[in-house]
Amino acid sequence: MTSKYQKRYCIVGGGAGGIGLGKALTEGGLEFDIIEAESDFGGNWRYGAATSKMYQSAHLISSKQSTEFSDFPMPQSYPHYPNHELMLNYLQSLARHYELYSQVQFNTRVKSVLPVSSGCKVILSSGEEREYHAVIIANGMLREPKYPIYPGKFKGKVFHSVDYISPDAFAGKRVLVVGAGNSGCDIAVDLVPKAAKVYHSTRRGYHYMPKFIDGLPVQKWLSVIRNEIDDAHAYWDHVTSTFKLAGFAGSDYGLPQPDHEIYQAHPIMNSLILYRIGHGDIIPKPDIREFKGRKVVFLDGSVVEFDVIIYATGFKMSFPFLSKDILPSTSLKEDTFMNSFHKKTDHLIFAGYFNSPSGLGNLSNAGGKLMTSYLKALYNNKQSIRIFNQLKQNAGLLDLSGDFMKTERHENEFDLYKVLKGMKWLSEKFLA
Ligand SMILES: Cc1cc2nc3c(=O)[nH]c(=O)nc-3n(C[C@H](O)[C@H](O)[C@H](O)COP(=O)(O)OP(=O)(O)OC[C@H]3O[C@@H](n4cnc5c(N)ncnc54)[C@H](O)[C@@H]3O)c2cc1C
Repeated sequence: MTSKYQKRYCIVGGGAGGIGLGKALTEGGLEFDIIEAESDFGGNWRYGAATSKMYQSAHLISSKQSTEFSDFPMPQSYPHYPNHELMLNYLQSLARHYELYSQVQFNTRVKSVLPVSSGCKVILSSGEEREYHAVIIANGMLREPKYPIYPGKFKGKVFHSVDYISPDAFAGKRVLVVGAGNSGCDIAVDLVPKAAKVYHSTRRGYHYMPKFIDGLPVQKWLSVIRNEIDDAHAYWDHVTSTFKLAGFAGSDYGLPQPDHEIYQAHPIMNSLILYRIGHGDIIPKPDIREFKGRKVVFLDGSVVEFDVIIYATGFKMSFPFLSKDILPSTSLKEDTFMNSFHKKTDHLIFAGYFNSPSGLGNLSNAGGKLMTSYLKALYNNKQSIRIFNQLKQNAGLLDLSGDFMKTERHENEFDLYKVLKGMKWLSEKFLA
């Protein structure tokens, strides 16, 4: 065991989350190492790398302004919705600016993280063992593909969105895309010019948002309008009626009415899905009832034959380097406070396991500041850390959940405004 690490912190993963954390710890004057399994920074945004879930046509879903770190803006030359290549360049320039390339160990996997008396032991793929004061895990939320289960067996080819690169592999095929998340909508649209037929199966009616409205990226427009309309109900009424006028009400295209309010679901932002449906290039379908060979029976009783199904049905988190007794439940919700601070092991933190209706930059900045304050308070054994630890056990005292639908998809969805406010208060007032 090497003791030189006992005043240092270990960040597991060099994706956007690990980079944001490296930035925060640098600004807070803390010493750390980043351990990254792959050969460069960028994680998911390194299109073509083993860890990436990007497809060729992928662009930011959240706008440039709502995704960048506000104190390290994206270049002015970037469009409102940069593609994956520009996003990767941006993240790597962030890593260069904060000199993270001198703090990272690439091509090294963290194999095990074990809490010890006043820290965490990390075992690396090289076999080396180190004992750090604390470990911050940032291995990404989108780790293992999730597949729904339906009766029967589909005899065509089955893919997950993680396998999807471009429409070329589906030229001339009859394809069913399952799932109304942003990837499902992107992929269905992407397939249109090449596939013989594109069908899109979703479980319910949704609210769709355009990427631009009134000449602004939609998130910017939403914040402008929010400042103009005080009352929340009046605000959302205005938003939904404007989207309807702009051609973004699914029910106008024969889709079911949403069974929830627009603010109760993670936003689907896609300017083309309804346009394609309106032109008959994408045929909407309800959920699947069962498979019969190559035939898919839908809940409305209709039956269609397909060559391929692409499940855009999301991902599970996965922490193969943690033993079951550290994370006995399958969700961070139960074993951690704010999906971040382990309830029993003070020296173990998780960064970046939030879904919120915005891009990553501001959340990462606020989360990084909170974690830095926490680590300093922990190291100095401040009185505040004992009160913080009581708060951890009574998470209900700080309600950060939003008004989201109680579905699996929204399990890790937080109210962005409450989280940012809560993080600021905790780091600047509580732990300072
Ligand atoms: C198609 C698509 C579009 C998206 N669009 C947006 C968007 O518009 N806005 C937005 O904010 N987000 C978007 N996202 C979400 C995206 O995942 C985040 O932007 C961001 O990449 C998350 O960063 P992360 O560091 O948490 O995880 P990742 O990017 O997954 O990085 C995790 C890193 O950890 C490393 N790692 C894993 N296990 C180990 C280990 N045991 N040891 C060492 N290293 C390890 C991996 O190699 C990887 O580099 C999108 C995602 C997809 C798939």
